[in-house]
Amino acid sequence: MESQTLRDAGLRVTAQRTAVLEAVGRLPHATADAVLAEVRTSLPTVSVQAVYDVLHALAGAGLLRRIEPAGHPARYERRVADNHHHVVCRGCGAIDDVDCAVGPSPCLTPSSTSGFTVETAEVTYWGLCPACQGAA
Ligand SMILES: [Zn+2]
Ligand SMILES: [Zn+2]
Repeated sequence: MESQTLRDAGLRVTAQRTAVLEAVGRLPHATADAVLAEVRTSLPTVSVQAVYDVLHALAGAGLLRRIEPAGHPARYERRVADNHHHVVCRGCGAIDDVDCAVGPSPCLTPSSTSGFTVETAEVTYWGLCPACQGAA
């Protein structure tokens, strides 16, 4: 399945690319470090740089989405086909998906575009996750 995904994107199938795709599929919103640890369970000798390079290539090919919450390391996910948003915990950095609230991507209709053509929108909701609320 991962190999077909890579081929469809015009990428050569390698063990590293397949393992990174699988790892991000198992760990949505994973940091590069978490992806590295997961990939090393199947490819123990893979280098840090190799995993970073693969993440970069897969994101560039549109197979992974890169999320960069301010002040937190970048996260990667395979849910790329929609324009969903994220809620981020300002305590522990936990992150989850937020679907568009109403209808098809209402967030793509800003009150003013200043003449720009809008293609995507990224909304980050900040707050405290349930675990951090309990600790507060
Ligand atoms: Zn938290
Ligand atoms: Zn997401």
